[in-house]
Amino acid sequence: MGFKEPYQDVLKKKNLKATKHRYTILKALESNKLPVTAEDLYFRLKEKGISISLSTVYRSLETLHEKDIVLKSNLPDYNKAVYEYNNNEHRHHMICIKCHKMQPVTGCPLEEYEKLIESKFKFTVKGHNLEVYGYCNGCGCEE
Ligand SMILES: [Zn+2]
Ligand SMILES: [Zn+2]
Repeated sequence: MGFKEPYQDVLKKKNLKATKHRYTILKALESNKLPVTAEDLYFRLKEKGISISLSTVYRSLETLHEKDIVLKSNLPDYNKAVYEYNNNEHRHHMICIKCHKMQPVTGCPLEEYEKLIESKFKFTVKGHNLEVYGYCNGCGCEE
């Protein structure tokens, strides 16, 4: 084929076999800017005429998540996880508690805070999580 699949290195580095399904899933996740549930992803792939079963989508997402290639987040009051491609870009999320839409926020307000913690507590910070909950533009601000 000569053409190198873009995710080949990523998968190889994590000792994962580069399967067609994994490529398809990674490609779909990366082109989709928002995190999606396994079902959403499954329907999206089906729409494109890709034959894959829902359990394969689940299994692949879990494997990719275990290897840190895909990020997984659990939404509160919503027993479904959402997945997104991990492009190693540090970011936070805004989560709508009504429609469960999850939008990334670029930029981090916690860098100074991390430095403060390091110097104050002599604690070596390796990362953090911050998710912001509320109502998205489409859902308004009803309480
Ligand atoms: Zn909403
Ligand atoms: Zn941050």
